Amino acid sequence: MDLGIRGKKALVCGASKGLGRACAEALAMEGAHVTIVARTAADLEKTAGEIRVMAAATGATVQAVACDITTPEGRALALAACGEPDILVTNAGGPPPGDFRDWERSDWIAALDANMLTPIELIKATVDGMIARKFGRIVNITSAAVKAPLSNLGLSNGARTGLTGFVAGLSRQVVAHNVTINNLLPGPFDTDRLKSNFANMAKTAGKTAEEMTASRRKANPAKRFGTPAEFGACCAFLCSTHTSYMTGQNILLDGGDYPGTM
Ligand code: NAD
Repeated sequence: MDLGIRGKKALVCGASKGLGRACAEALAMEGAHVTIVARTAADLEKTAGEIRVMAAATGATVQAVACDITTPEGRALALAACGEPDILVTNAGGPPPGDFRDWERSDWIAALDANMLTPIELIKATVDGMIARKFGRIVNITSAAVKAPLSNLGLSNGARTGLTGFVAGLSRQVVAHNVTINNLLPGPFDTDRLKSNFANMAKTAGKTAEEMTASRRKANPAKRFGTPAEFGACCAFLCSTHTSYMTGQNILLDGGDYPGTM
């Protein structure tokens, strides 16, 4: 299937590795011109070079903007480099785990900044241009924690659910202009973030990280973790020309881990 996004401009945040990188790869493989963002220039440039090689045959261009996307300055740099994006993938690192009794107001503000207000600011800066051009695809990388909260990730549960509520409203106001906003909810995907979460959970449970990883893998109906490439492919489809009638959705990618019928 041709996703119809060759030549479109995509801004992909949190994209030096993991799920954000996989989204950038999948979009570039479809011929989209991608701007990737992460904080560490050397890692980001390496990733950009690798995606350029991978997508060379498609005509995609790849530019790297090293900045902290959770700051106004970082967002200004990213948006200046990408210009008027047709596709926006919001993503940043998840908040740290812990017990809510230990969190101060500043911890909550940091989580809200990174996982709720940054996506909202990026949407605010880009959505009207998308409306004017009659095409826009916005995908927020959130978490399965929106559907089923994770006990040690209260900051993530709270901040991401705030974003989800906002998107539920706005997505209905822009879809008539062929601009869609959807959220992709990762369950366990094989990335550095998953490894550090399991290491933390193992410590709390008095297990080794390997034991925790093995037991979580076994407990998943798919008997494995997702691969970033699977996540990227789903993101690229959501960004395609085929999804104009799909908006405000929360798409869970978790190997069937969430046990509900719907
Ligand atoms: P990761 O740690 O592997 O990669 C995160 C990427 O974001 C990196 O490129 C990092 O450099 C970049 N980044 C982090 N903070 C940034 C900032 N302030 N500015 C710019 N770039 C920044 O994480 P991942 O596994 O790819 O997860 C992506 C998101 O999905 C995270 O929010 C994570 O909490 C969430 N999530 C992941 C899983 C999973 O199983 N991997 C499950 C649920 C939710």
